[in-house]
Amino acid sequence: MVDLTRVWDVMVVGGGNAALCAAITARKAGASVIVCEHAPKAMRGGNSRHTRTVRALHAAPTGVLTEKYLEEEYWDDLLKVTGGRTDEALARMTIRASEQAPKFLESCGVVFQPSLSGTLSLSRTNAFFLGGGKALLNALYRTAEKLGVELLYDTEVQHIAFDDGFAREAVVSHRGFPERIRAKAVIASSGGFQANRAWLREYWGDAADRFQIRGTPYAQGRVLKDLLAQGAQAVGDPTQFHAVANDAPRYAGYLAGGTWGIMNEVGNWPGAWWLFPYTSWYQWGYGATGASGDLYVIIMTVLFALPFIFLPWIPGLRDIPKATRLYRVMWKPHYDEQRRNS
Ligand SMILES: Cc1cc2nc3c(=O)[nH]c(=O)nc-3n(C[C@H](O)[C@H](O)[C@H](O)COP(=O)(O)OP(=O)(O)OC[C@H]3O[C@@H](n4cnc5c(N)ncnc54)[C@H](O)[C@@H]3O)c2cc1C
Repeated sequence: MVDLTRVWDVMVVGGGNAALCAAITARKAGASVIVCEHAPKAMRGGNSRHTRTVRALHAAPTGVLTEKYLEEEYWDDLLKVTGGRTDEALARMTIRASEQAPKFLESCGVVFQPSLSGTLSLSRTNAFFLGGGKALLNALYRTAEKLGVELLYDTEVQHIAFDDGFAREAVVSHRGFPERIRAKAVIASSGGFQANRAWLREYWGDAADRFQIRGTPYAQGRVLKDLLAQGAQAVGDPTQFHAVANDAPRYAGYLAGGTWGIMNEVGNWPGAWWLFPYTSWYQWGYGATGASGDLYVIIMTVLFALPFIFLPWIPGLRDIPKATRLYRVMWKPHYDEQRRNS
């Protein structure tokens, strides 16, 4: 049970990569740290759970990164995707800091894998997380827990209150109940507003209604809006984001037959329904947060399938169809005809 009456040294808002790295760093420096994540435990991690890679500056081959990738090339690459509308000071600070990122993440138990070879290989620029974003987050959460960071799930920060220019207190909804959490410092790392259609509409008009949001539904930008309303300085260009063309209809049809993949977390209900027996293992317990989630899911799916495969040989189970006479419903026309002929 987390003590919500105490004053924490640091409160971290959000539960993605940025938040966990900040929480771990603060805790290692000796601060008491509480993390407030809006999502429930099984959905923790924001857009970071969808990521595959981190792009990192390096002057020589390191681990899985080959050759070299220097600041000017990184900066030029960034300009190509932003069309030049980039805050240079902020971008260069991030580029320089990216050199430390793989090493820091490895120190938190994150494992990288070599990228695929061939013409589309990214091995020179991008380090791939073994197991993807979910494995990245599981490692970060495990490290944070081990260090004694307090984790509050299902906790939406709704407002950050300032006192004399310093953030002191957050108004939160914790499992649906209003609470206040006090801290000497607050780190807001709760992502953007990529899943907030109303806000996207302000820049994109009606087109926003046809966007497929591939990431977390918790990217609502509530803290961002709250801070901007209180005078925080905006930086960057809110109309920029990573998008790909997708001609699938927004509702019926999306993931309804033509698209294959483990994609229940995107698209509308029921998504790729035929993958449910497989993907549901990822939603609870060890599958959602365990270190070897993929292996666990494969084992559970095989165990789940075995009774169906061996049904004809399992005494008792194999008699269920006979006892329920379900086959008579399925083959009704045949039995109707048999009755008529007899
Ligand atoms: C499908 C997809 C694929 C991607 N692939 C890559 C890739 O390969 N390489 C790459 O570099 N980038 C990739 N990205 C982008 C990358 O995932 C994000 O830039 C990065 O994860 C952002 O990290 P973050 O910690 O800032 O935000 P997030 O990971 O989004 O974390 C924000 C956190 O804040 C929480 N939160 C939000 N509002 C509140 C609130 N009011 N109170 C409390 N908590 C709140 C959310 O639940 C979440 O936990 C991808 C993104 C998507 C969607």
